[in-house]
Amino acid sequence: MSLPSNPITIVIVGAGPAGMAAALSLHHQGIKDFVIVDSLLAGQNSSRAVVIQAATLEALDTVGCMDKLLKIGDQNNHFGVRDESSYLFSADFSLLAPYTKFPFGLVLPQTSTEGAMLEAMKERGIHVLRPYKAVSLKPSAENEGVIDVEFESGEVVQAKYVIGADGAHSVVRNEAGISFTEPGNGQEPDLGNVSQLILGDVTFSSPPHFPDPKYPVFTSIANNNFLLIAPFPAALSHDPERIEYRVAAGVPVEDGTAPHAPSKEYIQSVLDRCAPSVLNLPRIENTYWTSRYRTRAAVAERSFARLAGGGAVLLVGDAAHIHSPLGGQGMSLGIRDAISLGAALPAVLAQDDGDRAAVDKLLTIWAGERHKRALGVVQITKGALGMVIAPRTFMRRIGFALLRFLGRFTLVQRMVAYRLSGLAEI
Ligand SMILES: Cc1cc2nc3c(=O)[nH]c(=O)nc-3n(C[C@H](O)[C@H](O)[C@H](O)COP(=O)(O)OP(=O)(O)OC[C@H]3O[C@@H](n4cnc5c(N)ncnc54)[C@H](O)[C@@H]3O)c2cc1C
Repeated sequence: MSLPSNPITIVIVGAGPAGMAAALSLHHQGIKDFVIVDSLLAGQNSSRAVVIQAATLEALDTVGCMDKLLKIGDQNNHFGVRDESSYLFSADFSLLAPYTKFPFGLVLPQTSTEGAMLEAMKERGIHVLRPYKAVSLKPSAENEGVIDVEFESGEVVQAKYVIGADGAHSVVRNEAGISFTEPGNGQEPDLGNVSQLILGDVTFSSPPHFPDPKYPVFTSIANNNFLLIAPFPAALSHDPERIEYRVAAGVPVEDGTAPHAPSKEYIQSVLDRCAPSVLNLPRIENTYWTSRYRTRAAVAERSFARLAGGGAVLLVGDAAHIHSPLGGQGMSLGIRDAISLGAALPAVLAQDDGDRAAVDKLLTIWAGERHKRALGVVQITKGALGMVIAPRTFMRRIGFALLRFLGRFTLVQRMVAYRLSGLAEI
């Protein structure tokens, strides 16, 4: 399919989870005059996010994506973090039943989430135009209030609204001159004894036995490091004979910088040192995807801007915020940005030909809400990171004892689940 030659209302740049959610949301709102483009020839085959939080499941339900996702994902009600001896705290998502149709986290690799969203788009006749790599945004010389989005090929698409869903290194954000910085003092956090995070989708030589079957995902803070092991749905394993697991751990400072795609041996060596003895972890048999991750956070200074000629730029997903994957929030937040933008746009477009001040007011409110939520999520992920990397001092022992005590209360388990689910803010 080729690019439209006349000016259109909206172009979505990027067809990751945020861009696809934006497309589904626009279609759901009855907005049809848009295109979605991506620089890659096909969707990324990269596992990354493994959980979709309840508030995001609610949002995806509004755009008709949930039947597909529920068929392939595993529903996880309990999430707990333990140390060598016992659980420090847990979140019981089933306690969220009064507030949501989806009182669980849905566990599945990002490739499968993206596959389900792409299928939902195709059913609605929405096709991603590929490969179109956006390289610049300029005010149109012929049409007031329109942006020329230029691609690497030299082709141009003209649109009144450009939705930047083009990930952490967003060209749309850069072209709009929107800064992207670490919230707070602008400094990256001191990670103490860990330098980066490593992630891998692996199979083990035999199934690991988690100490408490109530928690299908194992998460520990032990041996001066943390460890997460989450089983994927059986039907999604690369090896039909074995369950596949996402493992994540910190890279000890003494190991230096982790390779871009750590080997099986590299991951095994980190697991050997961070797995608590209670786990008696079997050996890794195969790795199917591995990566390393910096724990830097950054938030766009704003998610709505007008270019000099009057066209509007809106940011969703990683283009607007990045942070550590601890807490499993990144993709979920990006999808919610996009679906909420779709819901805000009918009122905007209704006034589009007349009162620009009214339009800008609506978009500024939307962008301000999303900015607040991004800062809230960065705070959650920094809190999780702080707990993992805190030095083993007397104060940490007191803090952990307090967590253990408070974590026994149902109210606290519900509060933790509520915050992690995103329902506290939508
Ligand atoms: C190693 C790793 C592990 C992660 N683990 C987790 C996790 O456990 N939990 C979690 O919630 N999140 C995790 N994340 C984050 C999660 O993957 C992202 O939040 C999510 O992918 C963001 O979606 P997005 O659509 O905003 O951006 P992306 O997924 O980055 O998609 C952007 C799309 O835009 C396209 N694009 C880029 N530039 C251009 C351009 N100039 N022109 C046209 N198209 C362009 C790209 O090809 C891509 O398809 C992880 C990320 C990484 C890298």
